[in-house]
Amino acid sequence: MTQHDDARQYAPETVLVDAARPDRGEGAAVNPPVHLSSTFIGTGGVGDADFAYGRYATPAWDPFEAALAELEHAALPALVYASGLAAIASVLGLVARGGTILMPRHSYQGSLLVAAEIAERAGITVVTVDIDDTDSVISALDALPADAEEGGASAMLWIESPTNPMLEVADVPALLDAARRRGILTTVDNTFATPLLQRPLESGADIVVHSVTKYLAGHSDVVLGAAVTSDEALRARLHDDRTLRGAIAGPFEVWLALRGLRTLSVRLERAQVNAAVIAERLAGHPGVVEVRYPGLPDDPGHARAAAQMDGFGAIVSFVVDGAEAATAITEKVRLWTPATSLGGVESLIERRRRHAEEPESVPEGLLRLSVGIEHVDDLWNDLQAAIGS
Ligand SMILES: *Cc1c(COP(=O)(O)O)cnc(C)c1O
Repeated sequence: MTQHDDARQYAPETVLVDAARPDRGEGAAVNPPVHLSSTFIGTGGVGDADFAYGRYATPAWDPFEAALAELEHAALPALVYASGLAAIASVLGLVARGGTILMPRHSYQGSLLVAAEIAERAGITVVTVDIDDTDSVISALDALPADAEEGGASAMLWIESPTNPMLEVADVPALLDAARRRGILTTVDNTFATPLLQRPLESGADIVVHSVTKYLAGHSDVVLGAAVTSDEALRARLHDDRTLRGAIAGPFEVWLALRGLRTLSVRLERAQVNAAVIAERLAGHPGVVEVRYPGLPDDPGHARAAAQMDGFGAIVSFVVDGAEAATAITEKVRLWTPATSLGGVESLIERRRRHAEEPESVPEGLLRLSVGIEHVDDLWNDLQAAIGS
């Protein structure tokens, strides 16, 4: 792969397009190939980075892992996983037996389920917090044991911001700073924001995780995840876990994810503009009880998001009067696709409480929108007709 000495001089939009291209040469391919080989020739010793067997390492992962590391400003290649949740499980597995995981009440529900499962199996305590209430999170940090232990971290602060689907905004730099000063390991799920809108490693996070399935791949055609860190020891432990448990990504999926990543900036730019318009129009609609979008000036997370993010993202949540009314909207829309997931080019709408595991603090009538890149008037007309008056 091409390693530009001057890579950090490029803006993220350029990094997306330029990162991890094959070496230049007369007749060279512009794109990396799809590497399909489960095994690699060798007669000597095998190290972690050597190509020996497809579960340990494969050139199929390298371009995507290099590109994501460059975007997140990580010193080491990212680790791509079979899914976002596989990456999350691997990272949560760093917490030692008897340790504590501190998580947002409104974390991605799968993250909460994995944490609960680990808690049961490994005697770990899971403490849930309101991640946008900085004082209460810091109080919870003060109640945790400090000092990372040999063989695992005694505590981990898990940050998701904005949260899913409540769109609460955490004070990410303040929380990372507070955790670091107490020797507590930190992970940020950066799926909603993407590295274009916030780069938590720069603010001192130990690890960033992604559901690559969402904005990074961007076309609702692959399920993939990633973990990113600049810490050699942490990366080695995550790499060992991925190798041991085999939560590895397929070559075609990773190739598609890199292909999708190339257009992230234009997709997100358009989606964000659309989201801002939709949020504003929803806020003025008489059938809408509440709108959550950090880009709205009176949203509780607005000032914080404006200070720490390079954009407000393209997820909007709004509340109508009860589950039935919300479900009816998802049945009436014709352009919006009623489906879970987010971050694709097409706009999706979902009543989150249709999932039995969704926390009860999420209103029954809450609809989460993943705003796509269609024409905003077509999106609004369809949504408005479905909401009725
Ligand atoms: C979807 C999602 C995940 C899980 O990722 P998968 O790729 O579905 O396994 C984790 N965190 C957030 C914020 C998500 O939206």
